[in-house]
Amino acid sequence: MPFPKPHLEAFESPLRTQIAERYLDQEGVLGNTIRVKAPKAKPKDARLVHSAYLVESIELMSDIGSGQLGESSYASPDLLRTALLSVGGTMKGTEMVVSGEVKHAFSLMRPPGHHVTTSNPMGLCYFNNVAIATRSVLNDKDVNKVSIIDFDNHHGNGTSEIFYTDTNVQIISVHEYDYENFGLGHYGELGHGNAKGTNINIPLVETSPNVSYETSIDRVIEPALKRFSPDIIMVSAGYDAHYADPVGNMDVDSWIFWRFGNFVRKIVNATSAKGSVWALEGGYNPFTLGPSIRASLEGLSGKEAPILDDQIERETNQHIIDANDEVVDKVLETVQPHW
Ligand SMILES: [Zn+2]
Repeated sequence: MPFPKPHLEAFESPLRTQIAERYLDQEGVLGNTIRVKAPKAKPKDARLVHSAYLVESIELMSDIGSGQLGESSYASPDLLRTALLSVGGTMKGTEMVVSGEVKHAFSLMRPPGHHVTTSNPMGLCYFNNVAIATRSVLNDKDVNKVSIIDFDNHHGNGTSEIFYTDTNVQIISVHEYDYENFGLGHYGELGHGNAKGTNINIPLVETSPNVSYETSIDRVIEPALKRFSPDIIMVSAGYDAHYADPVGNMDVDSWIFWRFGNFVRKIVNATSAKGSVWALEGGYNPFTLGPSIRASLEGLSGKEAPILDDQIERETNQHIIDANDEVVDKVLETVQPHW
């Protein structure tokens, strides 16, 4: 990225995945996992969801080696290769779950993907890793329906746009929402035509704590997933809602990321879904990213919630919790008539 910190763009650096992986190794978290190197995807894979113009712009700008592709999206000489590896990681994990080789996969790769739309890179995202893997897996005869859970601090606008009219893809995004200025990610965005009701936004207020995310899981995400009954679950796993994150403004800690892992494991066991594929989105404090991912992995593997250093007691604000309970009521009121 062309700027030094504190520009938010500068936080999306190779240190994120390097420090997180080192932490996971040191803590022995990856003992029962199979570690696979991400293969490089092909530009034609990106074309499954992106316009020719977007793919060729990234190729060209990567050759030039600098410049701006969109809001908070900058080119560098290694951009194309890195972005294709990030796509490849998610696709490889998806293939391994579909073939039955593993039940759950986690792609610890960057750059993230959930902001890039069909034709506009933005928000540190170039190719939409999860969307590409989703479209690709839908070509498999055994996969007809995919649910995407996006718990990144920010709205997964790119993924929503790409699948807005697709009846086979359900998207549930829980994120921070600005109720003073508004913006995309409102619960009124439901999907279009026959796909109405497949796009579900849970726009929580700033500084939301663990309990509001739990409420979102219990009251919206769980019934929505059971209703849709996907063949596979994709997870846009962004960890920037962590209270120590320099970019997000939420107030959760690693415990909630365990809860998401534990929840997805239970849903997969209780439904006909083959498994889940997690792809790293945000999470810009490299020292809380490792523990947060660890918590998710331990939840996914059926372990008790680990007690980690970041889980310190913090003041709770009942007004925030009440406001979010009302948001969840609104979400259900709006979306349920379309189920
Ligand atoms: Zn984010």
